[in-house]
Amino acid sequence: MSVTDYESVIGLEVHVELKTPQKLFCGCSTTFGAPPNTQVCPVCLAMPGTLPLLNRECVEFAVRAGLALHCDIAPFSRFDRKNYFYPDLPKAYQVTQNFAPICTGGYVDVATEDGMRRIRINHIHLEEDAGKLIHHEDHSLVDCNRCGVPLIEIVTEPDIRSGEEAIAFLRKLRAIVRYTDVSDGKMNEGSLRCDVNLSVRKKGETLFGQRVEMKNINSFNFVARAIESEFKRQVTLIEEGGTIVQETRRFDEKTGQTSALRKKESAADYRYFPDPDLGEVVVDSEMIARIQSSMPRLSDERKAMYKDAYDLSDYEAERLTADKDLSDFFEAAVKETAHPKTLVSLILTDLSPLFGEDETEAPLSPETLGALADLLGNDVINSNTGRKVLKVLLENDQDPVAYVEDNHLTQINDSKVLQPIVDDAVRSNPRAVNDYLRGRTPAMRALMGYIMKKTQGRANPILAEDMLKAAIAEKDPS
Ligand SMILES: [Zn+2]
Repeated sequence: MSVTDYESVIGLEVHVELKTPQKLFCGCSTTFGAPPNTQVCPVCLAMPGTLPLLNRECVEFAVRAGLALHCDIAPFSRFDRKNYFYPDLPKAYQVTQNFAPICTGGYVDVATEDGMRRIRINHIHLEEDAGKLIHHEDHSLVDCNRCGVPLIEIVTEPDIRSGEEAIAFLRKLRAIVRYTDVSDGKMNEGSLRCDVNLSVRKKGETLFGQRVEMKNINSFNFVARAIESEFKRQVTLIEEGGTIVQETRRFDEKTGQTSALRKKESAADYRYFPDPDLGEVVVDSEMIARIQSSMPRLSDERKAMYKDAYDLSDYEAERLTADKDLSDFFEAAVKETAHPKTLVSLILTDLSPLFGEDETEAPLSPETLGALADLLGNDVINSNTGRKVLKVLLENDQDPVAYVEDNHLTQINDSKVLQPIVDDAVRSNPRAVNDYLRGRTPAMRALMGYIMKKTQGRANPILAEDMLKAAIAEKDPS
């Protein structure tokens, strides 16, 4: 048996921090990056005698996420206490939803190399975040700013079969929570964190193997590497006659390996019980209807609209809508140009890579990019110059029209100006001309290169090529 005879069976638990300005059970701010312990109060610090008060906005956010993920919304859900001691958890329990979560069922359709795959969601529950430990050489500090920050945990069925599928799912999920404004989905700020449950089995088997959990992985890349490394470890162990132990393992980003952290706790260890301080969470059909009607346009809807309005291909529309920031940027820029197709090609070839995993800032203003698309679309500059100008604009956002004028970059569209240069090209490159005449079409590139060099890249390439062909034909009428 070899590795190829096995498959991995993966389920994800994704923690998504809600974008509400206030915490789940008190009025403290949720803003990221404040000085330690400045966003706390007696409630989130669990002082004796304090009582939690549910922030209804968090419930609405969870419902919005549930609707976008095709879940059933529970009319009644409840909070439970998950009991454990840790220095970053002043209450010594986490308020979560163990027995009656707010959403059940649902799914995400993801595009993979093997076509569309449906990843089912088991449930979504609301819970509060814990604080953060900051470790120093001989001591550790506790920052409670994050205590009580609202999260939803999205738990999938074990439907994922590879690292690539896991990433495709996470990307789509992140896009959905961003489109719906449920979360900013920033992995580098911990707004989106992922636990991976993985077991292996021989292909064709239907029973599950013993699963191992890897906790708190905070980048797409690490998720894929952790899955790959853990898959290999489990297969090797089984092939050597060993057994997989149910445990929590840690993925080391430096070595790319996983190592045992602790034996996996079972639910019973946490002594879950309903929180007596919090009542039932009621979501009525009126509330669902209101949230449904205020749902923003999601990627699939935008995709259809772009295809229609701007005559784009499936592929172009798909890429423009894969990221909300990119899609928003396109919508702002397209208002600034009469050449949407040119704009799309500028965005997809040169700008889309700049919208990285956690990048939210547009690299230049939509007005600037729209003006550049007009310069290209109106043949004022050629694509060669366009690329150079864009590079300048990305370093220093400015008016591209003025920049092109000041630097004399306008395209030469006048055949009278081009004619002597074309003639010179034919005269000075007899070998390339001969090659072209003998059917070696790449020789045209050398001749065009000569013209571009003589015009500092400003010649209208289509006009210049036509003129070149005419000049060669005149020289050799055969
Ligand atoms: Zn508080």
